[in-house]
Amino acid sequence: MSDASTVLSIKGLTLEATIRQGSIFPVTDAHVSVRPGEIVGLVGESGSGKTLTALSALSLLPSNIRRTAGTIEVVGRDTGAMDEHELSSLRGSAAAMVFQDSLSSLNPSMTIGKQVAEAVRIHQDIDRAQANELALTALDQVGFPQAKQRFDSYPHQLSGGLRQRVAIAMAIVNRPSLLIADEPTTALDVTVQAQILELLRSLVTELGMGVLLITHDLGVIATTADRVNVMYGGRTVEELPVLDAFTTMRHPYTEALVASAPTLTDTLDVVLHGIPGSPPDPRSPEPGCPFAPRCSYATDVCSTTPPPLVRTDSSALACYHPVGAHV
Ligand code: SF4
Repeated sequence: MSDASTVLSIKGLTLEATIRQGSIFPVTDAHVSVRPGEIVGLVGESGSGKTLTALSALSLLPSNIRRTAGTIEVVGRDTGAMDEHELSSLRGSAAAMVFQDSLSSLNPSMTIGKQVAEAVRIHQDIDRAQANELALTALDQVGFPQAKQRFDSYPHQLSGGLRQRVAIAMAIVNRPSLLIADEPTTALDVTVQAQILELLRSLVTELGMGVLLITHDLGVIATTADRVNVMYGGRTVEELPVLDAFTTMRHPYTEALVASAPTLTDTLDVVLHGIPGSPPDPRSPEPGCPFAPRCSYATDVCSTTPPPLVRTDSSALACYHPVGAHV
């Protein structure tokens, strides 16, 4: 049965990748939900499965990776039951994606106005003049300065921040219900980063879309997201409202992530707490909780069976010995 209250619903996602040495499972139990009008931050270390989970949502996985379990619904539609034509029409209309590197997502030989207008004409049966009008509106909406005068600029003539605004304009020009933003500000300096995050926030309010924001930066999450989804070793380990993520987190990995993030009030003599050990290697999977080798709360049970994700009203947790439950 479809979940009409979400614009994205991923449950029990497992992905198998074929590599030279055989098969590996980079994602083994991912769960993500995004409702209209909210920003959900997807966080975790490199290799935790964040980007593959997000790419799965729009069926944009590399050809050597396939879904072997789980369900994905975008705006209430099961993407597993859609053919390539239906998926193409979904991408860019009901759901869109913004990537980290705007330079590679824009065509260097086409003016920015034409690129945004093309995104309209792929999905809407309108003439060139109407498409240009919508493109201009989208560029204005993302705060692109002097959009009319710079409509015929090429991507290389723009700064990184302006290119990212063009990429966002292309993504929102067809008024998607779901926007997936994969590290959209990582390549930008901090002042431009703040402007882009503020823009995302205002577009959510204005258009009512849901946003899945992938980042490794907890500062970005703290200032931008409504809820946080924490992934580790290809699994969703915790979901919670953003304020709780920094105060009453229950998963030992979330606790360690927060403790290892610098804050503005830290002085130079503050020692940051790194997480000892390394993330799990999907080429040599271990039974049990993937965080067990690095977890100071682990007991024998943690190393034998992975903890299931248990959901409550506003949160979800996969851990046998949550933070705060120890005597
Ligand atoms: S299940 Fe065990 S090893 Fe995993 S995070 Fe919880 S306490 Fe640590």
